[in-house]
Amino acid sequence: MDLFVHVLAAGLVAEGVARVRRRGGSTPRLGPRAGVALVLGAASHLGLDALPHFGFLPSIAVWTWMPQGWLVRALGGGLLAFGFVLANAGKNWPVVIAACVGAVYPDVEKVAHNELGVPFVLFRAHAELASTYTAGLPIKLLAAVEVVLAVLFALLYARLARSRRDAPWKSLTRDKNEAPPTP
Ligand SMILES: [Zn+2]
Repeated sequence: MDLFVHVLAAGLVAEGVARVRRRGGSTPRLGPRAGVALVLGAASHLGLDALPHFGFLPSIAVWTWMPQGWLVRALGGGLLAFGFVLANAGKNWPVVIAACVGAVYPDVEKVAHNELGVPFVLFRAHAELASTYTAGLPIKLLAAVEVVLAVLFALLYARLARSRRDAPWKSLTRDKNEAPPTP
């Protein structure tokens, strides 16, 4: 799928990880949280690419004059999504970045392997897969599904991020010397 869908999915991964608590209710340390987000981010990429899809951004006929314009369009979409996800991350930003790195990595190594001839690949099946997997479905339908999926991911992410900032557990961890919030 297009990079922006993977980045938005990474936002959801980060929100899931932000909700994990130890038995006593405390938040796990950042290192393990970031590590889990990295792995789950990559897993979300492979899972989404297993669905029939047509990554349409590289095929849109804009900036065709630009060398590697297909890559610039894909990166532009990914960066916009990253800006959105990060802007809503709040204190969860390190976990968000880890999830995004994990979610983007399979395509980075795919481009490095296929375009630059880098021999190392962690996800060989993904790297050697054709960039589209339509399963015989019309590409316009697949592109539309991708856009709908991205909008749903973005709305859900924004909602979860907001609810996390307002979550009741925040008041439990607030510094005792801090003044209570005024309504
Ligand atoms: Zn991919």
